[in-house]
Amino acid sequence: MTSSLTRFSAGAGFSAGARVSTGWATRAFIAAALILPLGLQPALSAEPQPAKQLFGGMTLPSRTAPASFGSYAKGCLSGAVALPADGPTWQAMRLSRNRRWGNPHMIMFLERFSRDAAEIGWGSGILLGDISQPRGGPMLTGHASHQIGLDADIWFQPKPARAMSVAERERKPFVSMLDKTKFLTVNPERWTPTHARLLMRAASEPEVDRVFVNPAIKKKLCETWTGDRTAMGKIRPIYGHDEHFHIRIKCPADSPGCKPQAAVAPGDGCDKSLAWWFTQEPWAKPKPNPDAKPVKPRFVMLSDLPQACSGVLAAPSSSEAASTFGGAVPVSAPAPASAFVPAAPDAIMPPATIDDPSVPVPTRRPVAGGVQ
Ligand SMILES: [Zn+2]
Repeated sequence: MTSSLTRFSAGAGFSAGARVSTGWATRAFIAAALILPLGLQPALSAEPQPAKQLFGGMTLPSRTAPASFGSYAKGCLSGAVALPADGPTWQAMRLSRNRRWGNPHMIMFLERFSRDAAEIGWGSGILLGDISQPRGGPMLTGHASHQIGLDADIWFQPKPARAMSVAERERKPFVSMLDKTKFLTVNPERWTPTHARLLMRAASEPEVDRVFVNPAIKKKLCETWTGDRTAMGKIRPIYGHDEHFHIRIKCPADSPGCKPQAAVAPGDGCDKSLAWWFTQEPWAKPKPNPDAKPVKPRFVMLSDLPQACSGVLAAPSSSEAASTFGGAVPVSAPAPASAFVPAAPDAIMPPATIDDPSVPVPTRRPVAGGVQ
């Protein structure tokens, strides 16, 4: 027993000194911890783990009734379903991130919206970015919101007619709609009236609560849209969001634990709240306040989330096939959930909250390559 454990520890890179000074149980535990991917390691002490580690380590949804708990930026998701990697009018991207999971209402909305997109001339449909993790919750990388399966990112590039390979979906570069040589200006070579139609179509759906885009894109819509502007106020300016837009749907009636956001202000939003983004203020470095007490950063813990989220985390898993929308087996063989590793921090936004992203309160700073 001892010798086999010793070989195991040595194989995992342990020194002879460590073998002498630790008991076999400790060695086995540390060796096991070493071979787990970063972020999925068990706690090395009694300290509770940040919620992002608990939820970021889940590979499958809970086998429980579908429900969204908490708010968009502080909550979790029970009984999630996945949008298949491929559908007639969509392709899911960056499959290794394992974020195709949503509240069934969101999945059904995306299926319908992708069809509408193709109908208005948006290629053969949409390219889907992140929705949520299998059990929602905070993430190790990438987003402040997207926690309750009611937020989805859509690329500003239409789906090609052919199915891309898994590798292509990992590597296909984002394309900004901005001319980065200028301050907050849409690139007229890339922006088309179909982009505008797509956004307005999303905003005009009754279940859509907000659509987040870059301020330059909102300005472009304000200046060029000649149709009905009733839904334009739902299109909200925010940092980033120049390579993709973000659709947030309302709390479904069958999720009483879902915390809705305040309704958007009346009007089209083409007002001083938009003009503020074109001032220095949102882009200036925050001035340090010499009188402010230093605040120790604190991770969101499970106890900060709605109580139901402990149950969501502890519930047994559903299988990927059983919880994929329509029972479809993804045709492009995405990375199986068992091979899931947390996404590389290639697109990290600084932790921030957009619990209430009503302008003009800056809530996050732009980061090159960041994805909301
Ligand atoms: Zn997003």
